[in-house]
Amino acid sequence: MALQIRNLHKSFGGQPALERIELDVGGAEFVCLLGPSGCGKTTLLRIIAGLMAADGGSVSLNGRDLAQMPARERGFGIVFQSYSLFPHMTVAQNVGYGLRIRGENAAAIDKRVAALLDMVKLPGFGARFPGQLSGGQQQRVAIARALAVNPSLLLLDEPLSALDARVRADLRGELREVQRNLGIPTLMVTHDQEEAMSMADTIVCMNHGRIEQQGAPQDLYLRPRTRFVADFMGHSNLLPPALARQWVPALPPLPAGLAEAEALLCVRPERIRLGAASEAVGQVTGISFLGSIQRVRLRWNEHDLLAETSSAVPLQPGQSVFLAVGAADCSWVRA
Ligand code: ATP
Repeated sequence: MALQIRNLHKSFGGQPALERIELDVGGAEFVCLLGPSGCGKTTLLRIIAGLMAADGGSVSLNGRDLAQMPARERGFGIVFQSYSLFPHMTVAQNVGYGLRIRGENAAAIDKRVAALLDMVKLPGFGARFPGQLSGGQQQRVAIARALAVNPSLLLLDEPLSALDARVRADLRGELREVQRNLGIPTLMVTHDQEEAMSMADTIVCMNHGRIEQQGAPQDLYLRPRTRFVADFMGHSNLLPPALARQWVPALPPLPAGLAEAEALLCVRPERIRLGAASEAVGQVTGISFLGSIQRVRLRWNEHDLLAETSSAVPLQPGQSVFLAVGAADCSWVRA
């Protein structure tokens, strides 16, 4: 593992902001720290960057403990949400900044800067000033600047969240491609679950300063272990066990250590097959058209459910419909 974090904790004025954090980032892995505002994501990133000290625990990179190493000696690439380019420097001067500080020669810097600007799809933009660029272009420059020094670790703090939806979607793919090509271990903070799911090899889902669950995006989505993860990673139907057993045939037993009273069955809306033969018949109470899919609100057994289905399926409010779901489409979560 490139980055290893063990038993890290941090409090502010007696209030814990991080508790018992255990986290690994592999050699070329892209890890997203995902969670709501205030869950401790930025604090964790700042400790890793060396901008803040932990109260306990350890952070090491490639086997070397970083506790005593100042931020500037860590050689990490960092990109923040706000563009944070030097406004009085050209794009080329911004990108080459770290190389000049290191005292590299001017011709080598020019060559490297041109290659980096190609890589972030801004060839020929070197002479412009940041004020002459769009938000998305400025973030591309910030990414190129962070990569210029061949960082041993790339830290990204909500780098795309100030951009509009379309630019953000484009940049997600581009940033991931650049990271994959360079093979740099990367840790990105985001509160956007779609962003995390579309970019990450591993998502670390945080809540109140703790890691709730970490794993591949598919794992967290399809097999959440807690109600918080189920709710945070998209929509879900959560049913108490007695009700769940009336609906879903052949449900697996509760996992060891999860008591009946604290268990809920999580069923993702798109896993409910409407109209397929089933024991359960519900009533359609509302429909939202979302383009390729429709989100259908249903009432079954005095319980509200949410289903998603192709918008080509004809449905009317008030209609009765079979609700089928298989045991493999569900997971037990801790309430
Ligand atoms: P956001 O997405 O809103 O940036 P976050 O998950 O990054 O949130 P942090 O900024 O890490 O959250 O904050 C975690 C907790 O620690 C919050 O309760 C915050 O108020 C508190 N906190 C963070 N920095 C400080 C500080 N310097 N002094 C006191 N409390 C702080």
